[in-house]
Amino acid sequence: MPLISGLAIAISTVIGLTAAIILFCLFKRREQRNYHDFVLENSISIKKLDEINRRYDFYPYVCFDQFHTYDNQTFFNMISCQDYLVYQLQYIRTKLFEQIKKVDHNSSRYKEYLAEVNSIDTSGQFAAPIGKLKSERLLKTECKLMQDKTCVPVTQFCLRVTLYRSNINGRVCEEKGEIFTAEDIFAINKRLNRKSGNFYLDREIWESICRVERGKVSNKMRFAIYKRDGYRCRKCGVSDRYAPLEIDHIIPIAKGGKSTYDNLQTLCHRCNTEKGDTIE
Ligand SMILES: [Zn+2]
Repeated sequence: MPLISGLAIAISTVIGLTAAIILFCLFKRREQRNYHDFVLENSISIKKLDEINRRYDFYPYVCFDQFHTYDNQTFFNMISCQDYLVYQLQYIRTKLFEQIKKVDHNSSRYKEYLAEVNSIDTSGQFAAPIGKLKSERLLKTECKLMQDKTCVPVTQFCLRVTLYRSNINGRVCEEKGEIFTAEDIFAINKRLNRKSGNFYLDREIWESICRVERGKVSNKMRFAIYKRDGYRCRKCGVSDRYAPLEIDHIIPIAKGGKSTYDNLQTLCHRCNTEKGDTIE
């Protein structure tokens, strides 16, 4: 008997304590919400901050980070992050420049914005009587809300290029990355602008583009081309059993050819060496 009643007392104590804790938490949360709501509705400072935020309306930042995965170790080693950026800039620069302009706009307005926000000197002033609420706690809540509502726009542009190397199963096993500023991008663009037809006159820039173009032939693509061509040299017809096969750009990359299925063919090592950089 005493054992059972002891157990009953223990259980009812646990239940009672749990209920008390839950009630206490609920009460605390409601109290916190009361302060939060009161400040949001009545704080003069918050109203001023909202008005300033509406006036400034900073541009949101759109991420332009670039990345690529190579399933081929040689290409991964050969191509630098800058090479990849140079290549990609050919296609994304217009949008990128718009973004840089917006970030610059944010940056030029941000100082002014902060000055306005810091000049708000109405902390602790409310549009309604505070009643039973504690003024110290109201101040703390207001301060926290002011911090949360103050805009932190992107004011500095930077673009990250990440190159990954994957193994044959597609699992990433190596990576390298580099960060470029707006100034870096402008400098590369200046060099990209030196162009004649489809060719870039800056030698380094042109070499970067050729490397990335060559690297676009993934192992997967390579095997698809071999398969399409029946595992034979398209020039002399030798099969892969008798000669090592290679992938050839029909119009060479150095002459503006691209790494597309139509521009790729299977050649044996000998025919490929003979062909070199000519167009047949
Ligand atoms: Zn051949």
